[in-house]
Amino acid sequence: MGLNRRRFFSLFLPTAATLAACSRSEASQEIVGSKEEEQVGCLVDTTLCIGCRQCEEGCNRRNELPRPDKPFRDHSVFRTDRRPGINNFTVVNEFLGSPSRDQRNKSATYVKTQCMHCLDPACVSACIVGALTRARDGAVVYNPDICIGCRYCMIACPFQIPSYEYAETLTPRVRKCEFCADQAEGTGADPACAAACPIEAIVFGKRSELLQLARSRIERRPVRYVDHVYGENEIGGTSWLYLYGREMDEIGLLSLPIFSPPRTTEAIQHTIFKYGAIPFLVYGTLGGIMWHNHRKHQVADDRDGGGS
Ligand code: SF4
Ligand code: SF4
Ligand code: SF4
Repeated sequence: MGLNRRRFFSLFLPTAATLAACSRSEASQEIVGSKEEEQVGCLVDTTLCIGCRQCEEGCNRRNELPRPDKPFRDHSVFRTDRRPGINNFTVVNEFLGSPSRDQRNKSATYVKTQCMHCLDPACVSACIVGALTRARDGAVVYNPDICIGCRYCMIACPFQIPSYEYAETLTPRVRKCEFCADQAEGTGADPACAAACPIEAIVFGKRSELLQLARSRIERRPVRYVDHVYGENEIGGTSWLYLYGREMDEIGLLSLPIFSPPRTTEAIQHTIFKYGAIPFLVYGTLGGIMWHNHRKHQVADDRDGGGS
């Protein structure tokens, strides 16, 4: 009998999940602990973005994705709230209302969405086979050759970013922005979306320098910006950072805790496993059930034997 995905899950998933919970934590801690100066990121200034969608087009071309039905110049797409998907790793959404208090002449705020490249990524933590990993520079990248299609990453991502090629019957992949990782690696080249932006609403660089840049913009224009860099601490910090001039919930920026859920859950798992509480409970309970059933059968046999 072939080892298809369903059979693979039923046989190996519990064991793999247990082992992965331990090994993944060590790997992600090592990367999270990598040098601050190695971390890159992008700063998106939503008060500057004009909604031209050239970043979407640059990303589409760079990743050789299918051309969309409607051209990138067509702004009717703003009528619906869009999410990144298998054919578009980044989307720009429109939120009616001025980008900030000092831009009353503008009637909309545009917000670009893509993978945030979290510093402690829930998707990496959830992937039981290590198909998602975080590179030293902060890019969260995917290896389709290892992926078993469990889609745990999709459930784990707090930003609901990874998508899945359901229509691909033979080799479906998880798809998401990979920070143009192969392009940027070692070359310092801008990601395609940042390079395509005509007004530098997206700035690529070292994360530490982007945070300084963001704070200096807030300091210089306190009326324009909310005094908060989105992504600095959310969910443990993200490589993509946002400046904005309206309430977060008005422009689709999720209000998230500042702690990292993967780190917290892994700490709990490790404490439990360290002291053997789970194996003791599981095996103790199973042993109790088996002993009880065995006794029941023995009593029944004795009764039947005694009655004959
Ligand atoms: S945004 Fe989601 S997919 Fe991207 S790194 Fe964070 S958890 Fe992973
Ligand atoms: S970093 Fe690259 S893959 Fe990610 S949204 Fe920008 S262009 Fe697309
Ligand atoms: S290219 Fe720049 S200005 Fe145009 S939509 Fe994208 S981020 Fe906004």
